[in-house]
Amino acid sequence: MSLAAVSTRTIAQKCSHATADDLRELERALHSGLTGTSQIVDEYEAALAALYGVRHVIAVSSGAASVTAALAGVDFHPGDEVIVAPTGPICTVLPILSLGLVPVFCDVAPDSFGLDPVDLRRCISARTCAVIEVPMWGYPIRSDATWAYLRDAGIPLIQDLAHAHMTRLNDTWLAHHGEISCFSTHDCKFISTGEGGFVMTDDDERAARIRAYTRFGNLTGETLGINLKLGGLQAALGLARSRQLGANLQHRQRNRERLLGLLDNPAFREMPVVVGGEVNAYSLLLQAVGHDGRELVHYQQRHGIESDIGKYDNQPLYQLPLLTRYQRDCPNAARLLRSLTTVPLHPDLVDDDLHYIAKVLNDYSPA
Ligand SMILES: *Cc1c(COP(=O)(O)O)cnc(C)c1O
Repeated sequence: MSLAAVSTRTIAQKCSHATADDLRELERALHSGLTGTSQIVDEYEAALAALYGVRHVIAVSSGAASVTAALAGVDFHPGDEVIVAPTGPICTVLPILSLGLVPVFCDVAPDSFGLDPVDLRRCISARTCAVIEVPMWGYPIRSDATWAYLRDAGIPLIQDLAHAHMTRLNDTWLAHHGEISCFSTHDCKFISTGEGGFVMTDDDERAARIRAYTRFGNLTGETLGINLKLGGLQAALGLARSRQLGANLQHRQRNRERLLGLLDNPAFREMPVVVGGEVNAYSLLLQAVGHDGRELVHYQQRHGIESDIGKYDNQPLYQLPLLTRYQRDCPNAARLLRSLTTVPLHPDLVDDDLHYIAKVLNDYSPA
């Protein structure tokens, strides 16, 4: 079979999340309440809290809303600084700017999306109000080490886990290795409510502040807030689909094992998984060996295999016009992004798809 003959095929990044339960829960919501304070939203939050073993889950209208709400849970003055890696999406940084805060770009550790501990020390100032870790494509990072250091420094750790639902570190959810965790349930993420997100924390006081912020400050006129609530229909979908998260995780992890077992091209390898970490198989991260990974990105795209990282052109965030004024030298971040491509692993992929992906990738030879 020649590749030219099959290159019209598309392996999409996105999958269907439909479950047999969807209609039942949507119908229940239609009859019981559609607002962000209805019973079905409570049930959705309770299901996520039980799954993750955390005290508080606050459902919100998007992943961006979850980052905004998480920041509302920490103390800051306008102009204070939030430390973040330049390897995440702009979606994490725009909420920082929208609150009048200043992003400080910190380099990542080599071959990781986690912050480099040496550069983190350099980035901290008297104006640092929070640090946001953003583990991309579901690969765990050493949040435990970042958190231990920040706890001593009295700085809260927020994790943007939009890509890292169900990712584990040291036999527990990555979400447990920080004060506040943010998630997106946008249609292209691990679990979909179309648009949506949630925040989780074990801290009662922060949870109360975050929830109040998403509800106009509880309308008391004492504290600032806007409306970031998740609607009842989205919560109904989330509730139905939260029941599939475990099976979804296993299916993705199985696809990763299968695909890795089929790949035998020394031109790339999987990005290393940190010791004690377990990927959620949101995507497979492949790292080009001895050449520019963007070549691999373009090659797979020509063969119809979508690469999520291709959307960002493998560039650090401070290359974007809005963010150039915050540029800091982050050589590990730039090198890491240039070395990578992402490959879909979602549950819609059938055996034939995995074989197609493997054949395309095994036939790759860098220029
Ligand atoms: C998708 C994403 C967001 C934004 O989520 P939305 O639901 O689209 O608002 C934020 N951070 C990260 C890391 C993301 O991947």
